Amino acid sequence: MLKHNFSAGPCILPQEVFKKAAAAILNFNDLSILEISHRSKDFVAVMEKAQALALEHLGLTDKGYKALFLGGGASMQFLMVAYNLLENKAAYLNTGTWSDKAIKEAKMFGEVIEVASSKADNYNHIPKNYTVPNDVDYFHFQTNNTIFGTQLQSTPDVSVPLICDMSSDIFSRQRDFEKYDLIYAGAQKNMGPAGATLIVVKEEILGKVSRQIPSMLSYKTHIAKDSMFNTPPVFPIYVSMLTLEWLKEYGGIDAIEKLNNQKAELIYNEIDRNALFNGFVTNKEDRSKMNATFVLNDAAHAGTFDSLWKEAGINGLNGHRSVGGYRASMYNALSLESVQALVDVMQHLEKKA
Ligand code: PMP
Repeated sequence: MLKHNFSAGPCILPQEVFKKAAAAILNFNDLSILEISHRSKDFVAVMEKAQALALEHLGLTDKGYKALFLGGGASMQFLMVAYNLLENKAAYLNTGTWSDKAIKEAKMFGEVIEVASSKADNYNHIPKNYTVPNDVDYFHFQTNNTIFGTQLQSTPDVSVPLICDMSSDIFSRQRDFEKYDLIYAGAQKNMGPAGATLIVVKEEILGKVSRQIPSMLSYKTHIAKDSMFNTPPVFPIYVSMLTLEWLKEYGGIDAIEKLNNQKAELIYNEIDRNALFNGFVTNKEDRSKMNATFVLNDAAHAGTFDSLWKEAGINGLNGHRSVGGYRASMYNALSLESVQALVDVMQHLEKKA
C-alpha cells in the first residue's frame, strides 16, 4: 500500500503524473525524455505547453506576463528579484525563514525596509497593520510560510509593484493574480519534482534598474530566449507540464481549492477538538491550508503518537526543526482520505491516552 505522504516538499504529486513521467523515461516519441535535446521540436512543445498552462491556470494569458522555467530553486529568485528590480529601496514583509533569506539577499542591492515582522514570536502569526511606503521599487512577501504553517488570506493592497514567493501554495487557491507583477515558485510542491522554478513576470516592470545584470541572472535574457538561454531542467519541466495538465482535467484552481478547503477544515477541526493537540499558529485566520503545524500538549505522548502514525502508513509528519511538533503538508495531490487517516490516528491516541 502506498504511504499517505504529508512531506513538506519535495512532496506528493498525482499518481497519474508519476505513471506518465515513468512512461516518458522509457519512451517519449521513441526516445527517452532524458535523452532528447532541449531544442528538439518535441521538448519545445513541452516548454510552450507548460508555460501556457501556468499562465492559463493563473488567468494571466495575454495580459503582458511571461512564464519562465529556470533552475536555481526559489532561493535563486531571492537574489534575481533584487538584482533585476531593486534600484534604491524595497519593502519586505518578514513572515518566516524564507522571507528572512530573501531580505538578506536584497540588502546586497539596496535599502530594505522591513515593513513588519513576526520573527520575535517565532513567526506564529502574520503581522497586520503595516504600511508599505509609496516610494519603494517593490513590495515582496510570501503567500504561504511552509515551515511555520501560516498563510496570507488576501492580497495586500499597495500601489507599488507586488513581488511574491508562492512556492508552497501556488495553484492551490485563487488569488487576485493580476495584482501581482512577479510571482515565483519552486516546482517541488504543487507542480513537479525539484529542479525547476516557475517565474511569472509582467514584462513592463523590467529594464528599469541602472546596474548591469549578468546574463544568467537577467529575466530579460531568459524571456528573449524563451527559457532556453541555457539547458533548462528538461525532466522537471516535463513533469510540471503533466501536473498542470492534471490540474486542468481536475477542473483547475477553483476545483482543487474546494478539496484543499475540505482537507484543511478536517485537520484543523481535529486539532481544535482533540485536547491532546494544539495548533502552532496563534491567529486562526492565519492558518495555512497547505501546511498545518501542531504540537502535542504533553510530550509524553510523542512516542505512542509517532508509532501510531507510522503504523498507519503516514510519512513526513515531523515538524521543521525550528518549530518542532508536527506538520501535515496537504498539497494538491493529497487526498481527503489521507487527511482522514491522520485524523483517525489522532483520535486513536486520544482513546489510548
Ligand atoms: N520559499 C518557500 C516558501 C519555500 O517553502 C522554500 C523551500 N521549500 C523556498 C522558498 C526555497 O526553495 P528552494 O529550495 O527551491 O530554493
